[in-house]
Amino acid sequence: MRQKIVAGNWKMNKTLQEGVELAKGVNDILSKNAPKCTVILGTPFIHLTEVVKTVDSKLIKVSAENCADKESGAYTGEVSAAMVKSTGAEYVILGHSERRGYYGETYEILKEKVKLALANGLKVIFCIGESLEEREANKQNAVVKAELEGSVFNLTADEFSKIVIAYEPIWAIGTGKTATSDQAEEIHAYIRSVIADKYGKQVAENTSILYGGSCKASNAKELFAKPDIDGGLIGGASLKPADFYGIIEAYN
Ligand code: PEP
Repeated sequence: MRQKIVAGNWKMNKTLQEGVELAKGVNDILSKNAPKCTVILGTPFIHLTEVVKTVDSKLIKVSAENCADKESGAYTGEVSAAMVKSTGAEYVILGHSERRGYYGETYEILKEKVKLALANGLKVIFCIGESLEEREANKQNAVVKAELEGSVFNLTADEFSKIVIAYEPIWAIGTGKTATSDQAEEIHAYIRSVIADKYGKQVAENTSILYGGSCKASNAKELFAKPDIDGGLIGGASLKPADFYGIIEAYN
């Protein structure tokens, strides 16, 4: 059975102190209400060590939101996969549309990041998804397939088993516009079929595919009930413990 996952992506929000408070808040709720899914907090780099120390690792895993495409050395301001791993974080989010769009992360750059993350023992939450323009031109399947082929289909099946896919239509991120559960299920099933064509049915069946894009407590249950939707990657609604728990609770 593949893992059900609810992962938060704090993005560039919260000071260190506020982030520790938020992690504590989520941990407090989950210590009284054991989650029925894997819960991950994706935090800025500077929060990682403290958040790892703050949470019960049996209840909550910790993820970075990025890592460098270089191993180490003279890359001022960058943070390597080895550094992320050394904080105790277990995951890294890569390929987020904000990184692709605002920071020019290409398929090739992301391929390097994924390779280094896996080589350093991190699991990867790899984001894919189309823009509004691409959706309107009915190109969404071609876009997600190209993103997979461009950055993760070079991996061996064993390496690919450490990848969680997050389908995040760009038009639904932070806009309040959610894909309908049928729209999301249709493309999740397509993504699983593309993985099956590349790695075989078993690997595809074992791959968790998360939905992201204005997911909240009021729509999580309907989305997560779909057979090919294995949880969510949550931006805005991960910034308050009660909102985030409202989504985790969809699995209870
Ligand atoms: C995200 O950016 O990963 C995301 C899903 O954001 P939001 O939930 O705010 O749409």
